[in-house]
Amino acid sequence: MAFKARNCPKCGNIYIEIGHKVCPDCYREIQNIQLEVCAYIRDNPDASVEEIMEATGADMPIIRRMSREGFFEGKTLSYPCKKCGAPIFTGSLCNKCLGKIQKNLKVSMNAIDARKKLIALSETKGTYRTIKKHD
Ligand SMILES: [Zn+2]
Ligand SMILES: [Zn+2]
Repeated sequence: MAFKARNCPKCGNIYIEIGHKVCPDCYREIQNIQLEVCAYIRDNPDASVEEIMEATGADMPIIRRMSREGFFEGKTLSYPCKKCGAPIFTGSLCNKCLGKIQKNLKVSMNAIDARKKLIALSETKGTYRTIKKHD
C-alpha cells in the first residue's frame, strides 16, 4: 500500500496521509476542539456560533464540518444565516445580521408609528368633518 506524503494545510508539516486532510497533530487538535464545542453546546444550547468559536477556539471550517458530519444532530442543528450564510443554531439570522435588522426595524417601526399617528389624526379630522357635514 502506497502512502502519500503531503503538506498539512493547517501547519505546513509534511505527513503521511492516512485518510485525514490534516497532519495527525492538527487532527488531534481539531478533535479536541470538536469535543470542546460539543461540551460547550451541551452546556450552552442557546449559544451563538460566535460565542461557541470564542469559547472553544474553533474556527468556521471546524463548525461547518462538524455540522456537516452531524455533530450537532440531536442537539441544536446549525444552518446557514439567511442573509450572510454564517452557520447559526437558533432563529433564521446570525447575531450580526439580527443586530443590523433590529436596528433597521426600530427605525422603520418609528416611521410606522409616526404614520399611524398621522392617519389617526387625519381620521379624527375626517370624522369631525363628516359629523360637521351631517350637522
Ligand atoms: Zn498540521
Ligand atoms: Zn448573518
